[in-house]
Amino acid sequence: MKLDLRPLLAGERLLEFDYELPLVCDPEDTSSFLYGVSFPSPMKVSGEITNTAGYMRMTLSMSVDYQAECARCLAPVCGCFTLDLEKTVATRDVLGDIDEDRLDDYAIIEDGFLDMDEPLREQIEMEFPVRFLCKEDCKGLCQRCGKDLNHGPCGCDKKEVDPRLEPLRALLERMKEEESSDN
Ligand SMILES: [Zn+2]
Ligand SMILES: [Zn+2]
Repeated sequence: MKLDLRPLLAGERLLEFDYELPLVCDPEDTSSFLYGVSFPSPMKVSGEITNTAGYMRMTLSMSVDYQAECARCLAPVCGCFTLDLEKTVATRDVLGDIDEDRLDDYAIIEDGFLDMDEPLREQIEMEFPVRFLCKEDCKGLCQRCGKDLNHGPCGCDKKEVDPRLEPLRALLERMKEEESSDN
């Protein structure tokens, strides 16, 4: 969506918007922040831009339903993600040589229009949670047999020592032996 800001630039005070933006994630792109997440319906975007004597301010909220996987047990997790934004809206020549890192606070008008979608997609990528849990205390899957431990213990032998802890166990054993030989 490109918002036509020419009426505001000509002195109008308010522009309201309300539209839908589809979010598409490339399922092949494992580096994407949205990898493994799907969006069954488009994101809803609504807000307004006010113009107070040439100073333009945008307030916006977006919401989208998502489906993801629990990071521990891989069960499906569904929810709704919402985000509110506020930005100052300005033309590039008003901003002049502003610092790159301050640009994030602005929405920049190009030739009378404001391109909404790409910045919003970037914002979603930045703010979207990277990890989901089906519940706070999800027990996850057994590392050995793969059973979902939320449904009860799997019966794998818990007394078996983790091989990474074996040197420590041997050390403790030796200390015990030395202690008893001292007496
Ligand atoms: Zn889980
Ligand atoms: Zn197991």
